[in-house]
Amino acid sequence: MISVEEALERILSYVERLDAEERPALDALGQALAEDVRADFDIPPYDNTAMDGYAVRAEDTRGASPAHPVTLRVVGELAAGYLFEGELPPGGAIRIMTGAPMPRGADAVVPFEETDEPEGHAFGKFAKAREVVGILKEAKPGANVRRAGEDVARGQVILQAGQTLHAAQVGVLASLGRATVRVVRRPVVAILSTGDEIVEPGRPLRPGQIYDANAYSIAAMTIECGAIPRLLGIARDTVDDLTAKVREGLTADMLVTSAGVSRGDYDVVKDVLAREGEVDFWTVRMKPGKPLAFGAFRAPDGRRVPHIGLPGNPVSSMVSFELFGRPAIFKMMGRTGWERPRVRAIAEERIVNTDGRRVFARVIVTRKDGRFHAALTGPQGSGILTSMAFANGLAVVPEDVPEVRPGDEVDVILLE
Ligand code: AMP
Ligand code: MG
Repeated sequence: MISVEEALERILSYVERLDAEERPALDALGQALAEDVRADFDIPPYDNTAMDGYAVRAEDTRGASPAHPVTLRVVGELAAGYLFEGELPPGGAIRIMTGAPMPRGADAVVPFEETDEPEGHAFGKFAKAREVVGILKEAKPGANVRRAGEDVARGQVILQAGQTLHAAQVGVLASLGRATVRVVRRPVVAILSTGDEIVEPGRPLRPGQIYDANAYSIAAMTIECGAIPRLLGIARDTVDDLTAKVREGLTADMLVTSAGVSRGDYDVVKDVLAREGEVDFWTVRMKPGKPLAFGAFRAPDGRRVPHIGLPGNPVSSMVSFELFGRPAIFKMMGRTGWERPRVRAIAEERIVNTDGRRVFARVIVTRKDGRFHAALTGPQGSGILTSMAFANGLAVVPEDVPEVRPGDEVDVILLE
């Protein structure tokens, strides 16, 4: 048996980062940048007001107070999106709206609340024409002014190659005027279920048959990683059908099969996999999941297509994909940080480790009195997929810990 770490290391050694592509920024959500993104202008591009109010020369407001307002002459009005022609004269004020460029000559903005027009939120045709405004508070130079380049300075690298695009990064790209961006391509992951007993959901179920859960849970996890699943359907346990479907999968960037990889398995899956590519069959020191196949196939176009052969039991299949498939996809996508957050939680129930494997128990993590607690989701059999459906975490019991008792602390991988 090999350890979880050893299995992961071997799997990752087969997997390479894919090439880059130019994508519309929004489509690239979840992809890793393949370029440094630089600003070629300042953001904001010009000094502008952070408040609705009056643009003034700060020195004109010296000594202003509610008891002794300073009266300034209103010389114009300026909405966002427009420029003030000319210059603010001494003793003047310009009624100005948030985001509007600072008029030449003005160096501060007095918000309406600090004038004798405290209600003053109407602009344009709704505004009462005023000739003068009373300033009730002294403004310091720069008050309520957003400086050009205060967010981003021209020439600065804002996003670095390798960084994953999340919502904020997509927003930053848009603020830089970028419509497209270079990112690492999303892998296409071909997913193949195997077994004579497996039936496509939506079809009638005959005695002795079960529905294909694995293809769907794995495809969903693939999407969650940012990759593109391609469902190959179900291969019967015959050499011809398996061979044809495996070959069909070689147009993808990775092939994931489920079932037929256990030791002593009568399935023909192992034979076909071994004949079509270089595949190792391992037992990994983990529970659920133990049998795992890993290798690579040679596509007709010469590409090396990595292959992960997951165990058939639905929970084993998902947990194995979580531990090995997800990191492999992240590596192909050039994404770092595939490791999920972990917390220490107090076990609410006994978790047993009968045979010295690393146990990944399905748990519900809650927070009580500032501490995390982990409760089992129910029976932990590797065929009980609902144990996974109710879980938001995997409690990890190390190989050398035979038992976690209620009240003990345990490491939990947070799945959401
Ligand atoms: P195997 O690895 O072929 O021995 O399968 C182990 C168990 O997983 C058996 O009970 C199978 O019926 C079940 N199984 C295999 N493939 C699937 C699948 N795609 N969806 C749900 N259960 C499956
Ligand atoms: Mg089988």
